[in-house]
Amino acid sequence: MPLTFNIRHLEEKEALLRGDLAVADLELEGCDELIHARQPLRYDLRAERIGQAILVQGRLEMVVDCECARCLKPFHHSVVLDPWTAHLPLDGPEAVPIKDDLADLTPFLREDILLEYPQHPLCGTDCGGLPNRTNEKKATGAGRTEASSAWSELNKLKF
Ligand SMILES: [Zn+2]
Repeated sequence: MPLTFNIRHLEEKEALLRGDLAVADLELEGCDELIHARQPLRYDLRAERIGQAILVQGRLEMVVDCECARCLKPFHHSVVLDPWTAHLPLDGPEAVPIKDDLADLTPFLREDILLEYPQHPLCGTDCGGLPNRTNEKKATGAGRTEASSAWSELNKLKF
């Protein structure tokens, strides 16, 4: 079930929206290969009608499973949007789609959660990366030695 609310209910008073949104409704899987959304989105929102628009404000939180971009270690990351605000016009080109008096918040939630995804997920700021990275460095060092010996071979040839 997407997160919808009845805009008619807002004519008299504000509406409180609180609960969990199933992650399948957000269609986040496949958006980022290092981040996997498997837990529901928790929302605690207040919607009110202001003129020809609906203002939604509150808090969003979702725990996602990440893979460290350096060492590939799995870890949890909490995506928190507090405060989260959405301004939904009821008319004009940007108007929020309304079906049977129901406005759907799901696309707005999806977009803003994606923007809050870590760009470069790391298990810790001091993550040293994969152990074999050190070996790569050593290999590069060995390569340099070989290169310099190759130069000395060339010098020998010149003489
Ligand atoms: Zn790491």
